Amino acid sequence: MLSMETARLTAANPLSDATAQLDAAIATLGYDSGIRDMLATPRREMTVSVPLRADDGSIRVFTGHRVQHNLSRGPAKGGLRYSPDVTLDEVRALAMWMTWKCALVDIPYGGAKGGITIDPRVHSEAELERVTRRYTSEILPIIGPERDIPAPDIGTSEKTMAWIMDTYSVATGYTVPGVVTGKPLALGGSLGRASATSRGVAHVALAALQHRGISPVGATTVVQGFGKVGRDTTRFLCEAGARVVAVADQYGAIYNSAGIDLDRLGAHVDATGSVVGFARSESIDGAAALELPVDLLIPAAVEGVLTAENAPRVTARVIVEGANGPTTTAADRIFVANDQLVVPDILANSGGVIVSYFEWVQANQAYWWGVEEVESRLRSRMLSTWRSVLAYADARGLTLREAATALAVERVTEAHRLRGMYP
Ligand code: GLU
Repeated sequence: MLSMETARLTAANPLSDATAQLDAAIATLGYDSGIRDMLATPRREMTVSVPLRADDGSIRVFTGHRVQHNLSRGPAKGGLRYSPDVTLDEVRALAMWMTWKCALVDIPYGGAKGGITIDPRVHSEAELERVTRRYTSEILPIIGPERDIPAPDIGTSEKTMAWIMDTYSVATGYTVPGVVTGKPLALGGSLGRASATSRGVAHVALAALQHRGISPVGATTVVQGFGKVGRDTTRFLCEAGARVVAVADQYGAIYNSAGIDLDRLGAHVDATGSVVGFARSESIDGAAALELPVDLLIPAAVEGVLTAENAPRVTARVIVEGANGPTTTAADRIFVANDQLVVPDILANSGGVIVSYFEWVQANQAYWWGVEEVESRLRSRMLSTWRSVLAYADARGLTLREAATALAVERVTEAHRLRGMYP
């Protein structure tokens, strides 16, 4: 059996998956190759070198990227990833998905993504702060509350956002809270932002189970990833009555057919950094967890984990993409053939950027909302998007991914057409 990491490395380049999804949408909508080429090409890319003076005095140089895929509907928006696996093509794919995600949930942004090829786990906080500040100052000309608004992603956190905000604000000469989202509350972050992606994943997962005639109460669930997205998703699903029987992370997986005690698991992960070794469970292979016979599978880690190789053995009735791009194009075809419902990333994990939008609106107005307001607006936007994707798919005989991408591409193209081409 392939380990999770090996499966990921043998997966296709995420940019080819993203481009294949765009091509399918272009075919559905009957758009010409000129529009296709515009939407396939990032609007702006910046690659910078990020030298770091390490704590021991030595110098190391990292590479960072910021890709703004599309600006037709508003400023660019998207996370910043710190991972040794970051490549320019990965950042391009993630930026394209952000364009579709923002258009799909109808928030006034284009799409962007950033990344630094660095393993944040092997650096001190002081080193990460220096890397972040240097990267920020390199990309300073292209970011800003009306240009491009970074947010957390894999390997970054609200601390990273605070450093970016400070670096930008020092250069500007005054405090600019709207330059990033996912900030600490004390710096103008939004209530409900930290758990927003997970809350949104849970909202659509429950809707998708019901749509397939599966009661959420007692629905057996596997979640891959126990970080920013997976961890709170397990909690929200459990609160709704689902039974989380396995949790996987990059080090392995744990299984308990009676359901995992998530509070205790949280404490174990806080203490050890991994789900592996959790006492009240059986230890299983990380890749095998994806193939357990369950109602609901939530890949909430990285892209490219469901591939042509393992998809035939994945038997979950419903797959909800907490991560960006976890399903390759080949795996997607297998799930369609096997009548498994896949709720695509740009819908399923859009809760994060929806509340990022709420945070930006609040920061720009310097007026903060209560948590109930944030959460009820998030819920209604997620569920209305779910219903429109479902209706669009049903009316045209499309999968949810095809429908979601086509709807988004249609909106971006409409904005582009109304604005016209310069010059
Ligand atoms: N990184 C998150 C995503 O992939 C959030 C992006 C944002 O809030 O701008 O959707």
